[in-house]
Amino acid sequence: MRILTVSDKVEPVLYGPYIRERVGQIDLILACGDLPYYYLEYIVSLLDRPLYYVHGNHDKAILRPSDLNPMPGAAGLGWGVNLHTHTARHKGLLLAGFEGCRVYNPGAPYQYSESQVQRQILALGLRLLANRLRYGRYLDILITHAPPRGIQDGEDLPHRGFESYLAFLRRYQPRLMIHGHQHIYNRNETTETDFGGTRIINTFGYRVLELAPRQDGSGWDLVSSSR
Ligand SMILES: [Zn+2]
Repeated sequence: MRILTVSDKVEPVLYGPYIRERVGQIDLILACGDLPYYYLEYIVSLLDRPLYYVHGNHDKAILRPSDLNPMPGAAGLGWGVNLHTHTARHKGLLLAGFEGCRVYNPGAPYQYSESQVQRQILALGLRLLANRLRYGRYLDILITHAPPRGIQDGEDLPHRGFESYLAFLRRYQPRLMIHGHQHIYNRNETTETDFGGTRIINTFGYRVLELAPRQDGSGWDLVSSSR
């Protein structure tokens, strides 16, 4: 399974005629927020693969989809699946997500307090429990916009990660957590960290991930992460 992950930055190599040559065969697209809808629409239409996404704090507050229903009139995002507090299954891969970042501008969309995030985790937790009963595990990949606190996050208020995400990772142990929000300005910055059994990846720009199903059917292993 090959996955294209994107966030935060329009990449000219993807927003151009050679996207297929650049990324190769892709099975699905995961978007972690702060990207213009025309860009996501372009990627989806050229690769012709499903998109699962969460919103970032800079995304326009379009009509909120009710659960997993397509967004009517939402600038080409009708074909995407919003994973915020929801789970989805794609070819045996269990996905879930949380949108937004820490509140720094009260009243703006897609900004949350730590206690609001805790409520989001409770809502998703019930759905993950259903996964566990049905498939034997909670989830394989968590996508978020913001990072967890202390891992690939920043010190200024808008870029400080959520403590609650750390508790989420300890409890549900996804194989991967993909986030954005924290911009990368030099090659020495850390963009991958192992936390328990979870590899946390900042996808700023884009990445191509390759996953392989475990022989015993207990989930997926990360084979490679590149760009
Ligand atoms: Zn952001």
